[in-house]
Amino acid sequence: MRSLYLLLGYGSNYRIRLALVVLTSYHEHICFCALVVRHYFPRGEMMKISATQPLNLTTSLLKSRVSKYAVYGVLIAFSCIIIATLMVAFLENGGIHLDNIMSAQKNNLALWMLDLMPFIFAFWGQYVSSIMVCQAETIILDQTSELRAQTAVLEEKASHDATHDFLTDLPNRILFHDRLQHALSAASRKQSKLAIMIIDLDNFKEVNDTLGHFNGDIILKQVANRLQATLRNFDSVARLGGDEFAIILHEVVGEQDVNIVAKKLQRALLPSFQAGGLNLNINASFGVTLFPDHGNDTAILMQRAEVAMYAAKKEKAGLIYYDKKYDQYSPKRLTLMAGLRQAIDQQELMVFFQPKVDIKTGKVVEVEALVRWQHPEYGLLLPDEFIPVSEQTGLIIPLTALVMELSLKQVAVWSQEGYDVGVTINISARVLLDPRFPDALIGLLAAYRVEPEKVMLEITETTIMVDRERAMDTLHRLKNMSVRISIDDFGTGYSSLAYLKNLPVYELKIDKSFVLEMCNNRDDAVIVKIVIELAHQLGLQVTAEGVETDEILSMLDDLGCDIAQGYLVSMPLPADELLSHLSNSRWRFQRGC
Ligand code: C2E
Ligand code: CA
Ligand code: CA
Repeated sequence: MRSLYLLLGYGSNYRIRLALVVLTSYHEHICFCALVVRHYFPRGEMMKISATQPLNLTTSLLKSRVSKYAVYGVLIAFSCIIIATLMVAFLENGGIHLDNIMSAQKNNLALWMLDLMPFIFAFWGQYVSSIMVCQAETIILDQTSELRAQTAVLEEKASHDATHDFLTDLPNRILFHDRLQHALSAASRKQSKLAIMIIDLDNFKEVNDTLGHFNGDIILKQVANRLQATLRNFDSVARLGGDEFAIILHEVVGEQDVNIVAKKLQRALLPSFQAGGLNLNINASFGVTLFPDHGNDTAILMQRAEVAMYAAKKEKAGLIYYDKKYDQYSPKRLTLMAGLRQAIDQQELMVFFQPKVDIKTGKVVEVEALVRWQHPEYGLLLPDEFIPVSEQTGLIIPLTALVMELSLKQVAVWSQEGYDVGVTINISARVLLDPRFPDALIGLLAAYRVEPEKVMLEITETTIMVDRERAMDTLHRLKNMSVRISIDDFGTGYSSLAYLKNLPVYELKIDKSFVLEMCNNRDDAVIVKIVIELAHQLGLQVTAEGVETDEILSMLDDLGCDIAQGYLVSMPLPADELLSHLSNSRWRFQRGC
C-alpha cells in the first residue's frame, strides 16, 4: 500500500510537473509566436512575404519544441517507473534482484498503472501540442490579415501624400512631372500637340502678409477648386508650391485652343475671393509652352513656361507664350540674386532723385531717393528688377542703409550749396521691423549733420499690416525723433481706413495708377478727390505721384492737392543732372536762409 501511495505520489507529482511543463511551453509558444511574427514580418516587408511560408516554418518549429518536451516527459516517466519498481522490489522482497523486480512488475497493480503513464502522457502531450499549434496558427493568420489590411491603407495614404499637395489635395510637382512625362510620350506617339501652362497669382505675397497665412491658404484652396472645376476631366492641374499652379492641356491643335481654356480659367478667377471677412480680387499671370514647338522634354518645357509666366507678370500681360526674347528673365534673376551682395559692398548701387514740388509755389520741397543698380553686364537696372530679390534674401537691410547714407550725404551737400531740400526714402517692411533701424538712422543723421525734419520715410499700407504692433512702435519712435512718415501707393493696399487715424503719419501719397488716367477716367478722378479730402480731414499733406501732364497738374491744383511728383517735373535723375535739369525748367530748389 505504501508503495502504491508512493507511486501515486510520484505519479501526481509528475502530472503536476508535466502540466507545468505544458503551461510553461504554452507561455513560451505564445511569446515564440510573437517573435516569429516579428521576425518574419519586419516593417515594410510585410506585403512581400507570402503568409503560408513563415506559417509552415512557425508550425514546424512549434511542433518540434513541444515534441522535445513530450520526450522529456516520457523519459521522466520511464525514470519514475524504474525507481518505483526498484523501490517496490526492495520494500516487498528485501533486496533488488531480477526475480524481485519481475515479481514487483507482475504483482503490483500500481506499477502496472505507472507503466501506462508514459504512453498516456506522450499521447496527451502530442494532443495538447497539436491543439496549441492550431490555435497559434489561427491567431497568426488573423493578425496577419489585420496587419495586411492596415498596411495596405497606410501604404495607400503614404503614396497619396507623397504625390499630392497637403493643402489643396491637387497633384504636387512630383506627380505633375510624372504625368507630363507620360503625356509627352503619348503626344509624340500620336504626333499631337500639348500645352503646359504655369499660373502664378499676382501680389499674393501681399495677401499673405496682410491677411496672414491662414487666409492665404483659404484663397489658395478656392483657386485650386476653381481651376479644377473649369478644366476637362483628363487635363491635369497641380500645385507646384506657393501660389504657383501648373496645367497640362492634352491634344491641343494650336494657340487658339489654349486661348479658349485660358479665357475660361481667367473668367473662373474673376469673381472675388472670400477670406478674413473681405472680398478680394486676385489676378494671375499665365506662362505657356507648347510641345513640340517650344521643346521636347519636361525640364525645358517647364523652365520655358516659367520664363513666359515671369514675362507675363513683368509686362502685366495676363498670358504670354514662350519666346526666345523672354529668356533674359529667368537667368537674369539668378545672376542678380548672386551678385547683389557684392554690388552693395562695391557701391554699384546709385541713388537717383525725383523732385516733389509744391503745386502752389512751384518750389521743390523734397526729392524722393530711388535706387538704381549700374550692373556691369545688364546696364542700368530699375528697382523693380532687384528690390523683390533683395527683400527675399534680406539684403534689403544693407541696401536701404546704403540708400540712406547716399541720400543724407547728398542733402548735406545741397545744404552746403545753399539749397533747402529734404529727402524721402522708401522703407520696406523688413527694414521697418528691424529693431536696429531707428538707431542706424540716428547715426547717419548725426554723421552728415542733417536735421531729422528733412527726412521723410515712405512706407506702404502693407508694410504696416505685416506686424501692426511693432510697426506702430517704430513709427512712434521715428515721430518722436521728428522724422516724418508718408503712406506710399495709397489706395492700392488691402487695409481699412480705420487704422489711418491712429497712425503718426505726415503725408498720404496717392498712387500713380489713379493719377495717370485721372483726366480720362471718372472713377480715378473721384478716388483722387476723395483721398485728398480724407487726407485734409485728417490734417495730412497729400502728394500725387505720376503727374505727367499740365492737365493733371491743374486738375490736382483744383482739387486742393499739395504736392506733385512726376515726369512733368522731372524723371528720377542723378543729383548733378537734376540741378541742371531744374535750372532749365519752371521748377526751382528752395534757397535756404
Ligand atoms: P515708388 O515708391 O512708387 O516710386 C515711384 C515710381 O514711379 C518710380 O519708379 C518712379 O520712377 C516712377 N514715376 C515717377 N513719376 C512717374 C510718372 O510721372 N509716370 C510714371 N509712369 N512713373 C513715374 P522706380 O524708380 O522704378 O521705382 C519703383 C519702385 O521701387 C518704387 O516705387 C519703390 O517702391 C521701389 N524703390 C525704389 N527705390 C527704393 C529703395 O531705395 N528702397 C525700397 N525699399 N524701395 C525702393
Ligand atoms: Ca515711393
Ligand atoms: Ca508710389
